[in-house]
Amino acid sequence: REHSAMAFKGGPSIPGIKDIIAVASGKGGVGKSTTAVNLAVALAKACQQNVGLLDADIYGPSIPTMMNIFRKPEVSEDLKMVPLENHGVKCMSMGFLVDKDAPIVWRGPMVMSALEKLTRGVAWGNLDILVIDMPPGTGDAQLSISQRLQLSGALIVSTPQDIALIDAQRGAFMFHKVDVPILGLIENMSFFKCPKCGEKSDIFGHGGAKRTADKMNLDFLGEIPLEVQVRSCSDEGSPIVMSSPDSLAAKAYIDIAHKV
Ligand code: ADP
Repeated sequence: REHSAMAFKGGPSIPGIKDIIAVASGKGGVGKSTTAVNLAVALAKACQQNVGLLDADIYGPSIPTMMNIFRKPEVSEDLKMVPLENHGVKCMSMGFLVDKDAPIVWRGPMVMSALEKLTRGVAWGNLDILVIDMPPGTGDAQLSISQRLQLSGALIVSTPQDIALIDAQRGAFMFHKVDVPILGLIENMSFFKCPKCGEKSDIFGHGGAKRTADKMNLDFLGEIPLEVQVRSCSDEGSPIVMSSPDSLAAKAYIDIAHKV
């Protein structure tokens, strides 16, 4: 892994962690969590890094399902939560702490205080990189994470569609405002290659993220195809990078992990 935009800010604010990277999107449903999980696993497996994964989506945590972790964390001697590990990645999520079916109806300040506990209140140990699956959008929680944690950089995930790209630009502006370097744009659901006939279809359009990246002078890091297996592996708790490393999507994730 090259330390491209890193070291820019004098290191992150959690002792023992070298770099903290946010995976963000302007809106929900574009594949941000799927990308965060697969990149984290790729960084651990293909890039041999010590990796942590924080699910900062307090209202809709997906990491427990995607990483197949349904236990509660233990508490260490110094009263920190011990992250739960699977697929070589140390994970923490609000979903580990609350009942799966109980909706979380907190107001902003409680979300901030939960995020504080989920970051600094965790015995992460020494990590090369902590990947944060950010909440969707550009509200208070996103701003506060970006400011309090001295992020090394942010990756922005978008589909090729105009509407998603407009939101992605909003996300990029937010990081810009708080001086977090944007490591690049990732296009998810870029195309669909029919497994039977091999024909390629641009279901949500194609190339939009690359054009937006060029326009905004950002790096374009790669495109992830729409594949049934990406979804089914996530649902089963075994990310595609783990369970089908030779698939197009897994190769794309691994390629991006090498660039981060
Ligand atoms: P977000 O975190 O942006 O809300 P998710 O990562 O939860 O989005 O993805 C939304 C849904 O789309 C999930 O069911 C996920 O499995 C599926 N998905 C994401 N990326 C892909 C892809 N490249 N191919 C197929 N399904 C995908």
